[in-house]
Amino acid sequence: MADSDATPSPTGQEPPRRLWIHNDWVEAEGGETFPTVNPANGEVLARVASGDRADVDRAVASSREAFQSSAWGGLDGHRRGRLLSKLADLIETNADELATLETRDNGKPFFESRKVDLPMVVRTFRYFAGMADKIHGETIPVSGPFLHYTQRSALGVVGCIVPWNFPLNLASWKVAPALACGNSVVLKPAEQTPLTALRLGELAAEAGFPPGALNVVSGFGDRAGTALVEHPDVAALSFTGSTETGRLVMKGAAGTLKRLSLELGGKSPNVIFADADLQAAIRGATSGIFYGKGEVCAAGSRILVERSVYDEVLEGLEARARKMTVGDPMDSGTRLGAIVSETQLERVLGYIQVGKDEGARLLTGGVRREVEGRGFFVEATVFADVEPEMTIAQEEIFGPVAAVIPFDDFGDAVERANQTIYGLASGIWTRDVGKAHRMAEAIDAGIVWVNTYNRYDPASPFGGTKASGFGADLGFQAALEKYTRSKSVWVALD
Ligand code: NAD
Ligand code: MG
Repeated sequence: MADSDATPSPTGQEPPRRLWIHNDWVEAEGGETFPTVNPANGEVLARVASGDRADVDRAVASSREAFQSSAWGGLDGHRRGRLLSKLADLIETNADELATLETRDNGKPFFESRKVDLPMVVRTFRYFAGMADKIHGETIPVSGPFLHYTQRSALGVVGCIVPWNFPLNLASWKVAPALACGNSVVLKPAEQTPLTALRLGELAAEAGFPPGALNVVSGFGDRAGTALVEHPDVAALSFTGSTETGRLVMKGAAGTLKRLSLELGGKSPNVIFADADLQAAIRGATSGIFYGKGEVCAAGSRILVERSVYDEVLEGLEARARKMTVGDPMDSGTRLGAIVSETQLERVLGYIQVGKDEGARLLTGGVRREVEGRGFFVEATVFADVEPEMTIAQEEIFGPVAAVIPFDDFGDAVERANQTIYGLASGIWTRDVGKAHRMAEAIDAGIVWVNTYNRYDPASPFGGTKASGFGADLGFQAALEKYTRSKSVWVALD
């Protein structure tokens, strides 16, 4: 299966990439390609085939064929689990290569790709490998002389659309459970970061997945993306991306009434009470917003601080933000990598300007940086005295920009925490157990972290509420609901 196309070079430009369909590299039918850029130096990293409607048609037909075949659709859970385990092993074996590719395509520090993203990808495939032979219905007592049971079955072809911030990780959160449940998958990576997803397709073939079980179509959202969303032979669509695009996806999926799950944006509150271990809270709030350059859907971008410790926390946040070293993402000392693209860089700088214009107090950062005269970097930025109504407290910036907002008491904290359209993640810092649980109850969010932040596990469902979407990734039960259907069977006994 491998050809010369597939092996990335450790330095310099990557070879051109084609679409991965039916366990083979194919050109886009229209012959078009697009560049993917290394944001750390602004150079074109590789040219990639630009999939369009005809290519999605081809990929979906291939996945449908796989679903109906004995080679994939006919496999029992045990065999699917073995394939997923094998793929996990191969990802682990190739982790250096994949992490390098991810860092060069996305700009995140290599230690994040290698020590955080890749291990999570491997764990996710292993977790769902273990799920594959544990999917079953129930026998349910009903009135009358009947045997009644439910069956759980796969849906068919599942479309997965992922963003650029955790390209391989978020792909694994969808691909692994969808395959574990017996579906076939067409994956569309983000146009900014297509390289690791394409390599994943190839590794799946190496692991033994038959043609069509996993197809990967790189391309743009308004072309390959919409084609996948609207396709009549795609049974379910699992989307992670912005809230704005989520609305378009929901409209696009209405025509075929396909099953939909949306993991969208966030503006997550990190709430620091005065009785917290303040040093731990400051550390957690700093990494909560600056990890992954703040390009994290769960980023704790609103830091709410009880007024009596406000100055002390601000001082700590400023000191820690100044230590977030901007640098070459491949350097081990780098804490803040490159913003994913020039467009995103402009967006982040635009929000910083709006923050100043609306009267927030810039404590530190706020400026573009370059490394050796190149790249799209922004300093870790902290705004103090942010009013809850300000744009930087309401809109998702998706960059290393913290908005610090003071509050007076518990009720005020709840009100401010929930004062946004989003409801993805949240953090609470306090030594008072009762208060922690009351706050966890009161916050409108899919995830609550108490005295910690940014924890993930394949067993823990990850998804939001309100404008952050619906239908969680990860978790056994969430995966069952998302990637299987239930059938009720009645058998008359007399
Ligand atoms: P985006 O919505 O622009 O793109 C996400 C994906 O959707 C890409 O693959 C893109 O090509 C595709 N797409 C774009 N337009 C489309 C359309 N009309 N139809 C179908 N597909 C389309 O988002 P982005 O800017 O790439 O990613 C950042 C956003 O993703 C942030 O808002 C962030 O909060 C969100 N995000 C959410 C989660 C989560 O789990 N909730 C995780 C990561 C990122
Ligand atoms: Mg790129």
